[in-house]
Amino acid sequence: MRDRYDPDLEAWCVQAGATNWHAYSHLYPLSGKALPGGSCYSVGLGGHITGGGYGLLSRQSGLTVDYLYAVEVAVVNADRTVDLVVATRDDPDPDRRDLWWAHTGGGGGNFGVVTRFWFRDLPAPPERVLITARAWKWPDFTKESFTRLLNAYGEYFADHQDPATPAGRLFTLLTLNHRANGEIGLIAQVDADSDAEDDPGVAAMRAFLKKVDGDRVPDSHPMWSSAAEHAAIPGAYKPRLMPWLTATQALNSSGENRCGKYKSAYLRKPFTKRQITAMWDYLGNTHFENYDNKEAVIQIDSYGSAVNDPPHDTASPQRDSILKMQYQVYWQRPSDDDAGDEAKHLAWIRETYRATFAATGGVPVIGENTDGCYVNYPDTDLSDADWNTSDQSWHKLYYKDAYTRLQRVKARWDPLNIFQHAQSIRPPADI
Ligand SMILES: Cc1cc2nc3c(=O)[nH]c(=O)nc-3n(C[C@H](O)[C@H](O)[C@H](O)COP(=O)(O)OP(=O)(O)OC[C@H]3O[C@@H](n4cnc5c(N)ncnc54)[C@H](O)[C@@H]3O)c2cc1C
Repeated sequence: MRDRYDPDLEAWCVQAGATNWHAYSHLYPLSGKALPGGSCYSVGLGGHITGGGYGLLSRQSGLTVDYLYAVEVAVVNADRTVDLVVATRDDPDPDRRDLWWAHTGGGGGNFGVVTRFWFRDLPAPPERVLITARAWKWPDFTKESFTRLLNAYGEYFADHQDPATPAGRLFTLLTLNHRANGEIGLIAQVDADSDAEDDPGVAAMRAFLKKVDGDRVPDSHPMWSSAAEHAAIPGAYKPRLMPWLTATQALNSSGENRCGKYKSAYLRKPFTKRQITAMWDYLGNTHFENYDNKEAVIQIDSYGSAVNDPPHDTASPQRDSILKMQYQVYWQRPSDDDAGDEAKHLAWIRETYRATFAATGGVPVIGENTDGCYVNYPDTDLSDADWNTSDQSWHKLYYKDAYTRLQRVKARWDPLNIFQHAQSIRPPADI
């Protein structure tokens, strides 16, 4: 990839074949700026940005697409000729402006092939961050202490949503692994200038840990095994100060390639009692007790703060959630021709998700407590009446009311519907 500052567009240009890691390792040294994107090094910007990518800096700085100024897209015309179109946020042409907008959360593989992104006013990452990584042993939990942990976690983020405060910038990942893993993990990061007791970042981390890791939950210990797709950092039981880039690198797990299935949910409020019971049950306590996969996890990310105050109109409409849930399961296939235990892993993730959102048709509907799903964890079960028994379609769950405008963009820029997949934006006549 060639990152460079483009004086004509007054923006940093990043090529679409780059990965998250390129963005951190190349763009940051060159510009002193960072995309507030995901921590997994291998995630490609082509899909990540177009779906509205987020990461550990997002409570501080918002979504990656909040800084997207322009896209260059190869589009296919009605006569099958191809044009390379540059579309900007303030484009005088409303169709091109719409094409830019559709790439701020509309998802990849819908309108054409993005070849370049330009970002304007990117934030500088914190120079130093405080990282904590802890784990609790599953056998130490009772349903009551598990409930207290989830209640405390949800309440903390309901109460801390101001990005002007360290507590509002603190980003965390709670990894509720299946019991087979042996542990539940927690990673937390906040910006801090020093590790002095009176540093505001240190104080925020201390208050957070007191809330979720106090004497109402089992004793925690250093995290020795990886937490979902994040590497273990056993040396950070006690909060450790490190340069931001070092922390980003430390969290970046580089496990083997494997198969996986994801599901997601935006939460506007702390967990309901019913949701907590379902998670307890399906993590191996009363259901799937003999399931032996260490890599089956409900990961709960902190969310909101700067994400909930977007500077522009984007196609990422979930802007008042406090938590974002990622259901993940990974497995190895014995060979390309042999799916192995795939059915067993799919059964775990499907049934666990359905049980968590049983009150709303098996999915986190746009409603009082939940706000749909993240298009970057695409889930074809949302289109399946066996798994989504709510009255909300897959496109409502991903895009809310933005879908109609996305369809208009589709009709204008991909009139032959060349770019399509199981959940691609449908041309208007095709709804
Ligand atoms: C291990 C792991 C960790 C993750 N962590 C995070 C995270 O922390 N935060 C987060 O927000 N997301 C995260 N994600 C989700 C990630 O953002 C999406 O999977 C994203 O779509 C990946 O983009 P890709 O280009 O690598 O994938 P691909 O599978 O190659 O592409 C995804 C979609 O985008 C389309 N696409 C790809 N490139 C282009 C292009 N140049 N032009 C047009 N369409 C294109 C493809 O056709 C496809 O429809 C994670 C995913 C994984 C597997």
